Amino acid sequence: MEKKNVLITGAAGFLGSHLCDKFISEGFRVIGMDNFITGDKKNIDHLFDNPHFHFIEHDVTEFIKIEENLDFILHFASPASPIDYLKIPIQTLKVGSLGTHNLLGLAKAKKARILIASTSEVYGDPLVHPQSEDYYGNVNTIGPRGVYDEAKRFQESITMAYHRFHGLETRIVRIFNTYGPRMRLNDGRVIPAFMGQALRGEDLTIFGDGLQTRSFCYVSDQIDGIYKLLFSNYSYPVNIGNPHEITIKDFAEEIINLTGTDQKITYKELPKDDPLQRQPDISLAKSLLGWEPKIEREVGMRKTFNYFKNLTEEELYKSEH
Ligand code: NAD
Ligand code: UDP
Repeated sequence: MEKKNVLITGAAGFLGSHLCDKFISEGFRVIGMDNFITGDKKNIDHLFDNPHFHFIEHDVTEFIKIEENLDFILHFASPASPIDYLKIPIQTLKVGSLGTHNLLGLAKAKKARILIASTSEVYGDPLVHPQSEDYYGNVNTIGPRGVYDEAKRFQESITMAYHRFHGLETRIVRIFNTYGPRMRLNDGRVIPAFMGQALRGEDLTIFGDGLQTRSFCYVSDQIDGIYKLLFSNYSYPVNIGNPHEITIKDFAEEIINLTGTDQKITYKELPKDDPLQRQPDISLAKSLLGWEPKIEREVGMRKTFNYFKNLTEEELYKSEH
């Protein structure tokens, strides 16, 4: 039987590269697209010789031309870490708005089903806990994080408009903090930040008092949830994340234990609009997709630490992307 074609944007990034692996292993032909603004070719180097993988270097905010038929599109292109989207705010807004518009247009032309990567950030600094899909969120539109949060909220709106107006088959995943191998060590997100600090023998930096919470999902669980959502028949947003919540302070202690180092902790100013708490309500994913995360944090963190431990000295000390 002929293989189905999947276009994955953001293919050289953390989640995009794992999605490429997943779809190839499930028997699809994958077209990866990326402009490398926050991604790394290294994440997909192992795929270039694979006859079922084809890569196109392209900025998705520019018109996208694909000759082949497409059956599915997964739109994952977007800076995802706060330091990235604070550094490139306009590109972040453009990829969520213009980029998403281009991909929806492409999906319509190809009669493909499209899944877009949304985020827990659509809930902003939430006033409801845990966050379920029917919560409308608490976002500061004009704050520094607004460029990401509002781009993602617009992305959801235009996706629903294409679904309602054009009858396009759409899926929306609201991804909560996900971690694992292939995160960029210097991307500023808390897990690579703490692991890099531990490996370099530096103090771990906690922003604020460390009492803010997050709930961390291992990448294989996240990919599994996204895959199940794509093949469901549900067009509204679905949270995918791990509900096991922890304060950043306790998490820093866990990392010190895990790495077997005796790092000290130093405290820095909390970035503006940094959400105080975050925990997904995954009841919908459980009932709709029969999905729930399987990987305990201790196991996922060990796998992630082993990945970072094997980076070269140069990678370990590279501070700028
Ligand atoms: P990442 O930065 O590792 O990957 C994003 C990829 O998109 C990079 O390879 C980058 O070069 C590419 N990209 C950005 N702008 C582009 C453009 N205009 N054209 C083409 N390529 C472009 O980030 P990630 O963690 O893999 O996140 C992937 C997606 O998942 C993003 O849409 C992000 O918003 C979403 N998400 C991730 C998380 C998480 O915890 N990792 C949480 C919520 C949402
Ligand atoms: N954080 C921290 N020290 C760091 C990096 C991040 O204390 O070196 C905190 C950050 O302020 C936030 C949490 O860890 O409260 C998670 O940050 P991250 O950037 O990973 O993701 P977010 O969920 O805020 O998008």
